[in-house]
Amino acid sequence: MMKRVLTTCPYCGVGCNFYLDVRDNRIVGIIPSKSNTVSQGRLCVKGWHAHEPIQHPDRLKKPLIKENGKFSRKSGIPQNAGKEAIWKEVSWEYALDYVAGRLKEIKDKHGPDSLAVCTSARCTNEENFLMMKFARAVLGTNNVDHCARTCHSATVSGLNQSFGSGASTNSYDELTRMDCILIIGSNPTEAHPIAGWRVRTAIDNGAKIIVCDPRKILPAEDASVFIQQFPGSDIALINAMISYIITENLQDKEFIQQRTEGFNELWEAVKDCSPESVKDITGVEPTLIKKAAKLYATSKKACIMYSLGMTEHTVGTDNVIAMANLAMVCGQVGKEFSGIYPMRGQNNVQGACDIGALPNVYSGYQPVTDDAARKKFEAAWGVGLPKEKGLTLTDMMYKAIEGKLKCFYIIGEDQIRTDPNSRWIEKALDSLEFLVVQEIFMSDTAKKADVVLPGASFAEKEGTFTCAERRFQRVRKAIEPIAGKTDGEIVCEIAKRLGYAMEDNPSKVCDEMASLTPLFSGVSFDRLEANGLQWPVYAKEHPGTPVVHLEKFIRGLGKLIPVKHRPPAEVADSEYPFILTTGRMLFHYNTGTMTRRTNNLNREYPRNFVQINQVDAQKLGIKNKIKVKVKTRRGELIVAAEVTDKIKAGVIWMPFHFSEAPTNVLTNNAFDPVCRIGEYKACAAKVEKV
Ligand code: SF4
Repeated sequence: MMKRVLTTCPYCGVGCNFYLDVRDNRIVGIIPSKSNTVSQGRLCVKGWHAHEPIQHPDRLKKPLIKENGKFSRKSGIPQNAGKEAIWKEVSWEYALDYVAGRLKEIKDKHGPDSLAVCTSARCTNEENFLMMKFARAVLGTNNVDHCARTCHSATVSGLNQSFGSGASTNSYDELTRMDCILIIGSNPTEAHPIAGWRVRTAIDNGAKIIVCDPRKILPAEDASVFIQQFPGSDIALINAMISYIITENLQDKEFIQQRTEGFNELWEAVKDCSPESVKDITGVEPTLIKKAAKLYATSKKACIMYSLGMTEHTVGTDNVIAMANLAMVCGQVGKEFSGIYPMRGQNNVQGACDIGALPNVYSGYQPVTDDAARKKFEAAWGVGLPKEKGLTLTDMMYKAIEGKLKCFYIIGEDQIRTDPNSRWIEKALDSLEFLVVQEIFMSDTAKKADVVLPGASFAEKEGTFTCAERRFQRVRKAIEPIAGKTDGEIVCEIAKRLGYAMEDNPSKVCDEMASLTPLFSGVSFDRLEANGLQWPVYAKEHPGTPVVHLEKFIRGLGKLIPVKHRPPAEVADSEYPFILTTGRMLFHYNTGTMTRRTNNLNREYPRNFVQINQVDAQKLGIKNKIKVKVKTRRGELIVAAEVTDKIKAGVIWMPFHFSEAPTNVLTNNAFDPVCRIGEYKACAAKVEKV
C-alpha cells in the first residue's frame, strides 16, 4: 500500500516542499509539491535525492557506549587517545539511564554551568524548543547554542542592531520582480538553488544583477556589474558605495529623515571612503564600484541577497551592519520589493535561532536577562531559571580546553568537521569529562563521544521547520523512526530520568511555544497546513507577515551605524601568499554526511579540490588536476588543483564537504568579537606542488 506524505526539504534554508512516496515503511521516491508557495513544483538536485541517505545501511540504529572511553577523560588527555574505540551496543533504557546518571553526577559535582547543550538546525522547531527547555529548566544552564553561531550569528547580531530583528525583511516571491538584485558573498545557484532559480527568473524579467564575489560564480555571467573583491574587504567596498551615493546625491533623503537615525555619524565615517581610496584594499576598479552603487541606489525595486561570504568573518557583524546601512541610505528596505535577504544555510537554522536555541534569548528573541521574560518562562515551566547569559558555541570550546566545561550534549552536529580549525575542536572535545552525541550517522564528532544516541531524520518525525523567509512549514512523519525514537523523544526521556516531565507531542510543543512567544502567538499545526505562515504571527487570526519593518522598523527608527574596514585576522604574507576562502557546492551539503551517502550526488564530486587562478598556477608550475599541498598555520591537506580563471588571483577556494580531506583543518579559529562567528572565509595559505 503506497502513501504520499507532504513534507519540507531537509537540506538548505530555502524550504522547498515535496511528497515522500512510502511503501511498507520505506521511502521509494520524491515528488515536488506544485502548490507549495516556496518551491512551486521545483527541487534542486539535492532535494530530488533527499530520501536516499535516510535508509542508508550506515544509519545508527542502537545506542552505543564507548567501552574504553568511559570515565577515561582527565585533564584533556583521554586515556584512549590513539587507540581504536571499542563500541558496545546497549539498550535504550541502559543508555538513557547512563546518560542521565552522568549528567546528574557532573551537575552535582561541578554545577549546572559545567554542562552545555548544542541543539541542531537539522531538527524541528519543536525539538529545538525542547532542547533549549532541557538545558534551561532541567540542567539549569543557559549554555545552549547551535550551528547558527558558525553561519548566521552575524546576521542576528547585525540586523538586530540596525533594524531590531535579525531575519530576512522580505519574501521570496518579490525576488522575481525586482529591478536590481545585489548578490554579495552568496552563490545562490549552488548553495540555494531554488532561490537561484528566482534570481534567474528576475534576470529573464529584466532585472539588473550586481554580483560581488572573489569567484566568478554563475550569476556573474549575467551580471550588469561584476565586482571581484578580495575576501575580507567587504566593508571597504560597501562604505565606498555609500560614500559615492551620498557624494552624488543619490541617497533617499526622505527615508533617511523619516525612518532612520545616525546619518551624520555614518557620513563622517564614510565620507573619505571614495571608490578610489579603497582600490588597494578591495582590488576593485573604482568605476565598477560607482556603477554598482548608482544602479542599486537608482533602481526602483532593489534588494540585497547575501550569505556566509559576508557573515563568516571576524567582522561578520559589521559586514551585516554595512549592508543594512546601504539599504537604509537608499531607502531600499521597509517596503515591498526591497530589503535584505540573508540566505540561510541549514533547513532550520532560522527556526533554531527563533526558537531560542541561543545562550542569550528564549523563543522569539526574549532576553534571558529580562526579568519579565524569565518570570513568564519560570511560571510556565514551574522551575527557577538561570539569570545570566550562557556560553556561545565558540566559548564552550575555550571553556572546555580551560577545564571549566565538563560535559557537552551535542545533537545533530559534527563540530570537528564544521567548525574552524578542526584540531582545536578535537582538543576541546578531548578535554571534556563526558560527551554525548546524538546523530543519525557515526560522524567524526560522534567518534569522540562516550555515548552515541541514534537520532531520527526529518522523514521520521512531525514538526515544523522555518525557512529563510521566516516561514513556518510543516514536517510530516513518513516512516517510523529507524532507531525507535525521535530526537525530541530522546531529550524528553533523559529529562524524565532527571526528574522533570516534558510534553513530547510536537503539536502540543508548538502550542506551548506559541503561548510563550508573542512573535509566534498565532502559530499552530492546523494553521500551517496549506502553505505555512511567515512570522510575526501575533494572534490566531493574524495572517502572517511577508514584509517586516513596513511602517517603522521593529526597533523604531532604523539605526545607521558607522563601521570601518578591518582586515581579516590573517592576511597574505611572504610565507603564506594566498587567501584561502571556502564554500558550498551544488551537489554536496555541509559535511557531506547525507550527500556523500547519495550515489547520484557523490559521483559528481567524490573528492576535495582547490581552485586556483591560472596565473598563480602558472607561476607555481601547477597544472590542472595535479595533486597539490594546501597549507595554513593550522594544518595541511593534499588535494587536486582546479586551475581556473573564475577565481581572483591571490585567492584560493575549497569546499568543505569531504571528511577524508577536511578543509576546516586549515581554516582559522579567529572570531568576531560580537557574535563569535569564525573566520572561515579568509585565512593565509600557501600552495605547493606535491
Ligand atoms: Fe532542498 Fe534547498 Fe534544494 Fe530546495 S533549494 S530542494 S530546500 S536543497
